[in-house]
Amino acid sequence: MRCYQAFSIRALAFVSLSLLASSCSNSSDTEFKHTIFVFGTLIEITLFDTSETLADDAFEHLERTFHDYHARWTPWETSQLSRINDSIRADSPVAIPADLFTMISASRDLFQSSRGMFNPAIGKLINLWQMHRHDDPGIRPPDPDDIAKLVQQNPRMSDIRLQGSVLHSSNRAVQLNLGAFAKGYAIDLALEYLQARGIEHAVINAGGDLRVIGRHGERPWRIGIRHPRENDIIAWLDTEAGESVFTSGDYERFYMHQGRRFHHILDPRTGYPAEGVSSVSVIHRDAGTADAAATALFVAGAESWHEVARSMGIKYVMLIDNTMRIHMNPAMRQRVHLINPESVHIVLSEPL
Ligand code: ADP
Ligand code: MG
Repeated sequence: MRCYQAFSIRALAFVSLSLLASSCSNSSDTEFKHTIFVFGTLIEITLFDTSETLADDAFEHLERTFHDYHARWTPWETSQLSRINDSIRADSPVAIPADLFTMISASRDLFQSSRGMFNPAIGKLINLWQMHRHDDPGIRPPDPDDIAKLVQQNPRMSDIRLQGSVLHSSNRAVQLNLGAFAKGYAIDLALEYLQARGIEHAVINAGGDLRVIGRHGERPWRIGIRHPRENDIIAWLDTEAGESVFTSGDYERFYMHQGRRFHHILDPRTGYPAEGVSSVSVIHRDAGTADAAATALFVAGAESWHEVARSMGIKYVMLIDNTMRIHMNPAMRQRVHLINPESVHIVLSEPL
């Protein structure tokens, strides 16, 4: 029987998820699960074909490590990252730890390949929009003049110089916020750790963004892609060993003001939430790149996603625009199973 092993759909009730999961309880695989609440989301780790002792050790280690990553990388509280941001503001060079060195230099490459659509240097704009307060009924869009000022300061990842372990920004308006990349990167690190411990078969799923390594019995790991406007899925796909599937959507953190939707994915060129797109899903090998690419292609929009995906080396993309047309490259079309294929408008692109 093929069953919906991992129908983890963002924002759908976890009750229904556990029902789907329990419908797979006839699985003969040895499965160990552990859930961690971190990075503002539930991270579910599933291990296969290992021992209980190894699984328990790994869960304990990952629980600690994920919380440590959050504490080091958060821009909202005092952290290793906030210390770097303080130094950039003060125009002073700063020695940075190895984990942030790797993340910042990877982010700089992703900034370049995404043509600036993925730009974690826009921390000031992200702060100005206050999207973490999206549930607060008093929240309003910022003053347009304040937005314009920050856009004019033009903070870019390419302003950052890394020499040895020292970081210096030639632009004091740069403030780093790694929110579009850190979760994916943390998943990559966690899977590397599991492999180093001899655990070859695992899935780490952060609210529908996931990476799979190895096998799980006979079945591939199946993931649902959420309908951006309905409390249901619009499609599903099977992930192969080593792959990640990441989605960025305008339904994650948003509020309505005067009939307009304001969400958390910002277009660095305008300083406003990126327009025209409802969600972007990508399949890629490493989760860090998949995470950054989903954000970047969201900003690129229906016009430019193809060009930016090519430049980033992404081979599978599904973009749902805000008229609910589904844009895909042919290889993605082969893998996506639409729930109601007759009622959706598909726009097929050139191959990537
Ligand atoms: P989620 O965290 O919901 O999975 P994303 O991966 O798309 O969503 O990341 C969105 C977060 O990244 C935002 O909340 C903000 O902190 C930051 N961000 C917003 N716009 C950009 C951008 N253009 N480039 C880089 N980071 C961004
Ligand atoms: Mg992302």
